[in-house]
Amino acid sequence: ESMNSLLLNTDGVQIPQLGFGVWQIPAEETERAVAHALRIGYRHVDTAAAYGNEEAVGRAVRAAERPREKLFVTTKLANPDHDRAEAAFEESLSRLGLDYVDLYLIHWPVPSRDSYVQAWRALEKIYRSGRAKAIGTSNFTVETLTRLMDETDIVPSINQIELHPYFQQRELRAFHEANGILTQAWSPLGQGKGLLEDPALELLSSKCGRTPAQLVLRWHLQLGNVAIPKSATPARIKENFGVFDFVLDPEDMAVIGAMNRGQRLGPDPQTFV
Ligand code: NAD
Repeated sequence: ESMNSLLLNTDGVQIPQLGFGVWQIPAEETERAVAHALRIGYRHVDTAAAYGNEEAVGRAVRAAERPREKLFVTTKLANPDHDRAEAAFEESLSRLGLDYVDLYLIHWPVPSRDSYVQAWRALEKIYRSGRAKAIGTSNFTVETLTRLMDETDIVPSINQIELHPYFQQRELRAFHEANGILTQAWSPLGQGKGLLEDPALELLSSKCGRTPAQLVLRWHLQLGNVAIPKSATPARIKENFGVFDFVLDPEDMAVIGAMNRGQRLGPDPQTFV
């Protein structure tokens, strides 16, 4: 396999470092897009109850040539379901048509509702039952992760957060590393427009003979992030997978490292409901 995997803090569970995100892919296009990604060689798909396309993801996964145990499927607990997490998890499994997921995440902490600790206890139960091979969080901060670890038993295996060259999250990444939590980058391409047209990336692109998207994804891999770029366009799905046959040297890494602007594109997890 040409594809890197990282070890989660869960015994023996490995996560392919490059995954395929399906947020905002309409349900009727999702099966085709995921099937295409799996044919190209992606083995990891990131969906969520809130995306409305779990059925389509499940159909593509079940129809894939690669056996289920070679694929990695993530879904997420929707915000309104924190206090009924086990039931919501069963509903996700049944929409996916699978008997387990590889990773189940709390999608957002919603601090104002104060229900994420209770939700995490339900995820611990789901994990112990074997129906999720690993459990984790999404959009948690140092503050919400610290409380979760203080008040519950299992340390999240991964925290999926907004992370791209314009929003590099150095403090949170260091906190993850200190606690054995992997960092997963959402909107790893900065949602495309803007970032991928940055002159610094265009310059690096002509030097390296790789597209801006490939350079940014390679930067994520070399930092040790799991990245889940999204595209519904077959040529781009393939382009985004072409990141395992070159290496950025330290100067190239530094060029991208210098692009940080502390610029969030998505909602602030402290206030998002
Ligand atoms: P992204 O950074 O992956 O950007 C996707 C967009 O970039 C595409 O819609 C397309 O316009 C463009 N693009 C993709 N490949 C390209 C290429 N090769 N060349 C030029 N343009 C290209 O952003 P995203 O979709 O927001 O995030 C990716 C995934 O992260 C989502 O699908 C979802 O699975 C996950 N996500 C999770 C959360 C969360 O709260 N946990 C939030 C947002 C996204």
